Amino acid sequence: MENVIIIGTGCAGWAAAIYSARANLEPLVLAGEQPGGQLTTTTEVENYPGFPDGVMGPELMMKMQEQATKFGTRVEYKSVSGVERNGDAFKVKVGDEVLEAKTVIVATGAAPRHLGLEGEEKLIGHGLTSCATCDGAFYRDVPVAVIGGGDSACEEATFLTRFASKVYLIHRRDELRASKIMAERALANEKIEPVWDTGVTEYLTDDTGEVRAVKTKNLKTGEEGEIELKCVFVAIGHIPNAGFLDGLVETDDNGYIVQQPAGTPRTNVEGLFAAGDVADHVYRQAITAAGDGCRAALEAERYLAESE
Ligand code: NAP
Repeated sequence: MENVIIIGTGCAGWAAAIYSARANLEPLVLAGEQPGGQLTTTTEVENYPGFPDGVMGPELMMKMQEQATKFGTRVEYKSVSGVERNGDAFKVKVGDEVLEAKTVIVATGAAPRHLGLEGEEKLIGHGLTSCATCDGAFYRDVPVAVIGGGDSACEEATFLTRFASKVYLIHRRDELRASKIMAERALANEKIEPVWDTGVTEYLTDDTGEVRAVKTKNLKTGEEGEIELKCVFVAIGHIPNAGFLDGLVETDDNGYIVQQPAGTPRTNVEGLFAAGDVADHVYRQAITAAGDGCRAALEAERYLAESE
């Protein structure tokens, strides 16, 4: 019987591991077959405190893992297919194996939705990203585009006007889904040019493999075009990785685990905690996920102490 099983190895998972390992709980981290969170798909991270010269996303994740294992965290590169309540404890299914734990911390993150165009994955970090807060400052005085029409797209487009010379807001309809205030703010910004009823059909790259333009298609007229730019910020939503819990925990309409009471990593299932982007559709930052992981570990420690 494990004290704590941590599912996921983004910032939330490793922070939870560091804290629970230092509390002598000997956590077991189930890292999945391809470990690392969203930071492993980004390049330089400039906004994680403690790295004044920036740090590469994958390097930051490796350092977190090193720190977690230094204090006794065990890591298995296995994917969890389900979690079930087992009396006061949990059964965690990993392939044919069933592990048992007194507490579980779900830190499986969320995957940014992408368009599904050819070669897309290779372009992430090379002029294609899903995080304006992370990558916006790299694109000063050059044109960029945001794809999407929700709050995220409007927020990112508005944020990007601090750096970019121009921000194309490419949306598949002629009306934004975003809340009125965010939509109005974006559309009132002189640097933002909406491109309505338009889909992106291809990312074009230069000789060095960086994005240099997008091919577009007007979805009403069928007219095709090309927009020159240096970076595309895709903001068409995220998919929280909570499906494997199969209804065990309460989720909201978009599939995010509901932390309750709000602002804590607790869930409606006692002993099961949720940390990071799998439960956060608002902040979605490395530092907020790490903070959440810390809180989840402290809650797990408290829960174990109380139940013993
Ligand atoms: P969202 O509200 O689901 O919006 C996604 C946008 O992407 C929509 O405009 C959608 O178009 C478009 N889209 C989806 N799939 C697409 C595809 N395959 N191709 C092209 N366009 C596509 O997602 P979100 O903006 O990330 O927001 C998620 C939640 O977080 C919302 O509840 C939002 O209010 C909240 N949020 C709040 C704040 C804030 O309050 N500060 C900031 C960010 C997000 P259609 O409109 O045509 O469906």
